[in-house]
Amino acid sequence: MTGANNNPQDRTSYDVIVIGGGAGGLNAALVLARARRTVAVVDAGEPRNAPSAHMHSFLSRDGVSPLTVLETGRAEIARYGAVLLQGRVDQVDAAEAGGYVVRLAGGATLGARHVVLATGLRDRLPEIPGVRALWGEDVHFCPYCHGYEVRDQPIVVLGVHPASPGQALLLRQWSSDVRYVAHDRPLTAEERERMDARGVEVFDGPVATLLSKEGRLRAVELADGRTLECSSVFLFPTMTPNDSAFEGLGCARDEQGWLLTDRAGRTSRPGLWAVGNVVDPRAQAVTAAGMGAAAAFALNHDLVDEEIERDLAAHRSA
Ligand SMILES: Cc1cc2nc3c(=O)[nH]c(=O)nc-3n(C[C@H](O)[C@H](O)[C@H](O)COP(=O)(O)OP(=O)(O)OC[C@H]3O[C@@H](n4cnc5c(N)ncnc54)[C@H](O)[C@@H]3O)c2cc1C
Repeated sequence: MTGANNNPQDRTSYDVIVIGGGAGGLNAALVLARARRTVAVVDAGEPRNAPSAHMHSFLSRDGVSPLTVLETGRAEIARYGAVLLQGRVDQVDAAEAGGYVVRLAGGATLGARHVVLATGLRDRLPEIPGVRALWGEDVHFCPYCHGYEVRDQPIVVLGVHPASPGQALLLRQWSSDVRYVAHDRPLTAEERERMDARGVEVFDGPVATLLSKEGRLRAVELADGRTLECSSVFLFPTMTPNDSAFEGLGCARDEQGWLLTDRAGRTSRPGLWAVGNVVDPRAQAVTAAGMGAAAAFALNHDLVDEEIERDLAAHRSA
């Protein structure tokens, strides 16, 4: 083990710094701290699912508040000596002596042998009145997270993204009453045929506003005055990874600009890892947690390998 310290809060250098304290980052920190690594999690405190009161599809945590789950996770990592620092990381740079310098907003810097990026993504919502206020409550994007709760109820899908038609067709699995509003992108003939075949009624947009009563969605109002009563709206946001801290480090990215990793979360640059929604927009909370755990396993093995090489060199020269 390296870097043992009785006052983990006082350290400025860690075996591993995890950037982001959502499900992915906390699970990575939990496994690493239990592997007796010195670990700090720097977290800006804005997990993606915070607008939702209940988190689903996470075995043993189904229906629990997402904030309660994270609170529990924070207590669990603290039990093993991992440090949680509230703050935002602006940039990670390579350190001259090896490892990385993690620069926090406000000027503080921390050193780390390896860095795990677990910063999630940003959902850009369409500028439709009412959407933001109801996001996570009656406006959703993920049927696997919130479809069951609105099963058999009237659902309206807003066509605001190339993935929206597929989202509407998928939602038919949860309700036979799915309507689709082509808000700002008309359907192709093929898409329309598929909607017809699956019994999804299509309306030409645009949408004017979402109507609510006492904080709950009531209907979608179209610009031509028609209203579609419904109990939930689904839409596909535009997702952007929060990966600017790794900019300038030369990590390989795909054509869309998302960081590329191997199955364990290694980026193309040794010592830099990325897990959860920052690399996989499809990852649910349990998937992000699993990615964090898998990265922590592999990362600890890499550190052990580095230490064996170091000790072997010292042993041979002695
Ligand atoms: C409305 C909504 C409801 C959802 N419901 C469910 C559900 O029911 N079940 C489910 O499985 N999934 C659900 N999801 C998906 C779920 O939110 C993600 O799967 C999960 O949050 C991914 O975890 P993560 O650790 O990758 O990122 P996050 O949970 O988003 O955590 C990232 C953390 O990093 C921090 N951060 C970002 N940038 C920085 C920086 N530069 N420095 C320091 N910290 C930073 C953020 O503030 C945040 O705390 C939902 C998503 C939304 C939008």
